Amino acid sequence: MTVRKHIHPPGASCHDACCLRVTNLGVTAGGADILTGVDLHMHCGQIVAVIGPNGAGKSTLFKAILGQLPHTGTIEFEQAGGKRTRPLVGYVPQSPAFDRGDPVSVLDFFAAAISRRPVFLPTGKALRRKVTSCLERVHGGELIDKRMGALSGGELQRVLLAMALEPLPHVLILDEPLSGVDITGEHQLLEMLDEVRTNFDLSILLSTHDFATLEQFADKVILLRHTVLRAGKPAEVLTSPEFQEVFHLKVSAGGERP
Ligand code: ADP
Ligand code: MG
Repeated sequence: MTVRKHIHPPGASCHDACCLRVTNLGVTAGGADILTGVDLHMHCGQIVAVIGPNGAGKSTLFKAILGQLPHTGTIEFEQAGGKRTRPLVGYVPQSPAFDRGDPVSVLDFFAAAISRRPVFLPTGKALRRKVTSCLERVHGGELIDKRMGALSGGELQRVLLAMALEPLPHVLILDEPLSGVDITGEHQLLEMLDEVRTNFDLSILLSTHDFATLEQFADKVILLRHTVLRAGKPAEVLTSPEFQEVFHLKVSAGGERP
């Protein structure tokens, strides 16, 4: 797999490019601090992987960025030129809710999902053209009449990815997209994400437990356990004392477990 790493131009400030900046984020639920003092910074075109044990707050961080959870601190999207807004976020949840026995087609599932969003919803032939063009962003135009329940794991991920890209977001979040996908599907998905970030210049934030592929695809890794314990290039985080302490694992610079 050859994955091009997006390089933020050296010396470029955030005023020359766009970025997502999370500052001093805190989330409390049920009287407990789930996240405290979380800082995160990612440029458009970057892929950032969040790692951490179960219960570390990865999904909570994503839901806060999505605007689904009350939080303290700030979450800002900065466009080239310095204008700041709340980011438009595309989201592929950890376990999407649909019934595999349900005869719903990709077209119908897609149409129902985008009709809940504040975008113009066409009908009939125009709807079909619209869904086809969305699926073509992930080379999935031929999937339109398949039953959702009949899709392979990799095809389902592509349909969910196409849905998360409509309307085109500033930031794409995928919660454990590699879980339950076989090695071939995993490589295809990572290549698709690399293509998507290049074509649409968006940043991708994903959580994963697969440390072996981090060096190939991630520009940056964030080790989270209620706060950011370490952030940096994959090799730096994987060989850090914080990583060893959290996972009780030694990982060599190549990303492989010894
Ligand atoms: P991860 O995705 O890293 O496994 P989560 O973000 O799902 O972690 O959960 C982080 C912690 O927050 C867990 O201890 C979980 O039990 C707790 N938690 C998540 N949602 C709520 C909630 N609505 N109320 C109380 N505790 C919650
Ligand atoms: Mg989670």
